Amino acid sequence: MTPEALFGPLLWSWFALALVVFGLLQFLSAPYGRHLRAGWGPTLPSSLGWVLMELPAVVVPLSCWWLSDRRAEVVPLVLLSMWLAHYLHRTFVYPLRMRMGGKRMPLVIAGLAVLTNCGIDWLNFYWIFFRAPSWEVAWLTSPAFAVGSILFWGGFVLNRHSDAVLRGLRAPGETGYRIPHGGAWRWVSAPNYLGEILQWTGWAIATWSLPGLAFALWSASNLVPRALENHRWYRRTFADYPPERKALVPLIL
Ligand code: NDP
Repeated sequence: MTPEALFGPLLWSWFALALVVFGLLQFLSAPYGRHLRAGWGPTLPSSLGWVLMELPAVVVPLSCWWLSDRRAEVVPLVLLSMWLAHYLHRTFVYPLRMRMGGKRMPLVIAGLAVLTNCGIDWLNFYWIFFRAPSWEVAWLTSPAFAVGSILFWGGFVLNRHSDAVLRGLRAPGETGYRIPHGGAWRWVSAPNYLGEILQWTGWAIATWSLPGLAFALWSASNLVPRALENHRWYRRTFADYPPERKALVPLIL
């Protein structure tokens, strides 16, 4: 099958997959982090798992860029830089800086994440470097790009700051949990997920593309159920959990 023939079916399958995953996660929490449990087969160190899971998000876009004859076009390069600003950190810095305390994750979760990341990353960057209509530099001053960029970088800052608060909750080697305070943790139990969802919503708008939309929905289908699950977990676990705090969206959800 040629890449061109694969693109359409894979793209539409992704929208369906996002719906299926969203449905499944209503009944089942992904078994990593605080929701890790026995019965999911062999495990690997969480920090190694994160590097492996996120590696396709660096390798696939860079390969598309390298193989494309649109390598020097400004707009695709700006989009690639936005993506890499997030994923170089997520792949190589985040797993080493977060205090994972020697925790492990199931190999099957890491493997599934590698596969799905390969698929969604390829859809986005095959589209950007091979399929998108030729982009004028003027796109960078369009309202869609401006709104998308504000959401993307706003979400980026929120995600990074919220992860930094989590990092500060543990001393090196610790694995326990505490109530996070400060920043957007004042209002919700998963500001890091909210930041991530805002980021990929911004990406969908800035690229104005179906693969971008598929990625935003895919992220939300994974992160909304987990945010609700984490919120319930905080309330169960800490008697003094701030009662006014919502799960994901301040004052609303
Ligand atoms: P979590 O918020 O569950 O955990 C992040 C890190 O902080 C983990 O090391 C965790 O430890 C630790 N931690 C969490 N809560 C506490 C606490 N109360 N006290 C002390 N330490 C804590 O995030 P995820 O692991 O689910 O996700 C990590 C990042 O990846 C997030 O930024 C998320 O947005 C992103 N992500 C993106 C997805 C997408 O589809 N785009 C999908 C999934 C994640 P431990 O592992 O021991 O629980």
